[in-house]
Amino acid sequence: MQCDFIDLANDGVQGLSPYQPGKPIEELERELGLKDVVKLASNENPLGVSPLALKAYQQVGNKLHLYPDASGYELKRCLAESLEVEPEQITLGNGSNDILDLLARVFLDADSAGLYSQHGFVVYPIAIQAQGAQAIVVPARDWGHDLEAMAAAITDKTRLVFIANPNNPTGTWLKKAELEAFLKKVPETVVVVLDEAYFEYVGEGEYPDGVTLLQDFANLVVTRTFSKAYGLAGLRIGYSISHPQIADLLNRIRAPFNVNLPALAAAQAAYNDVDFLRRSLKTNQAGLKQLAAGFAELGLDFIPSVGNFIAVEMPVGNDPAGAMSYYNALLKKGVITRPVGVYQMPNHLRISVGLEQENQRCLQALKEVLAELGSGGSA
Ligand SMILES: *Cc1c(COP(=O)(O)O)cnc(C)c1O
Repeated sequence: MQCDFIDLANDGVQGLSPYQPGKPIEELERELGLKDVVKLASNENPLGVSPLALKAYQQVGNKLHLYPDASGYELKRCLAESLEVEPEQITLGNGSNDILDLLARVFLDADSAGLYSQHGFVVYPIAIQAQGAQAIVVPARDWGHDLEAMAAAITDKTRLVFIANPNNPTGTWLKKAELEAFLKKVPETVVVVLDEAYFEYVGEGEYPDGVTLLQDFANLVVTRTFSKAYGLAGLRIGYSISHPQIADLLNRIRAPFNVNLPALAAAQAAYNDVDFLRRSLKTNQAGLKQLAAGFAELGLDFIPSVGNFIAVEMPVGNDPAGAMSYYNALLKKGVITRPVGVYQMPNHLRISVGLEQENQRCLQALKEVLAELGSGGSA
């Protein structure tokens, strides 16, 4: 018998399943011979790329033989100035995912634990378990983080807490006062990662800006990304703001050139493209309203969201496949949504906000599949 390499992996990795991305448009078009596929599955920016970012990207085309600036000096300086922090507090990552992973590698090992909420972003359990660390999952309350229960669940072994605000895939969010009350309860030896991937989208008055909390809570790490509101998901760039010592630790283990040259150039241009950001937020606000109204009209329950997506509950009746029957029926109509069974939400689909006509296509397709499957069961 040949060696079973799975057996050789660390225990945490043996128990992992790979991250399941949204289905690519090209794949569905190939499989079903469809055209005009609408993808509302990965919370991408439906406006596309900022024209200024695209220009910056194209302008570095003749420099691709060069390594990027490994320190990300210019982008860090630009972010630091705008966020009113020191450049030493900023860490750049190959997507903010990279930083979540680096944090787990810095602070977790087989003797420690990482904590997150039920329905929390699926990258957290992967990052924790890959270190062979214990994963503490705290039951959600009304689909959102139950911060009191999370504080109570912290043990001597807990080194890292992950909180997404707003959370993906639920779209739920935490108010400043509740977050502060939580941070006051957390021992300063426990690092709290506040994942603000959708920060720019949130217009609520009581929504906290994590960066302003850093002065009071040195154990806080705020992560943000260029993948969502800034429209650069394909380039892979995100960042964290933290205590300089935490940034120092992340810097020790990151890959030397973890952020590529076009990403550095395009991110800085996107960050300064105020008009594109404004249009992105406006499109998203309108789309959230359009989808919410459409779901209500179809009699579908959904979780109110402040992100660029909504989790909608499908009437699955006794169908053991849950929302998967609807997911598949929608695919046949050329609409890609995101099943969230891996988030313990087997009856929901997460639908990203698209352009007005894309949202309309999705609502029309939902109406049709509800008529086909809606009496509570499989077709
Ligand atoms: C999309 C997302 C991210 C960001 O991913 P990138 O690696 O920056 O593309 C991080 N956290 C949450 C909760 C997300 O939904």
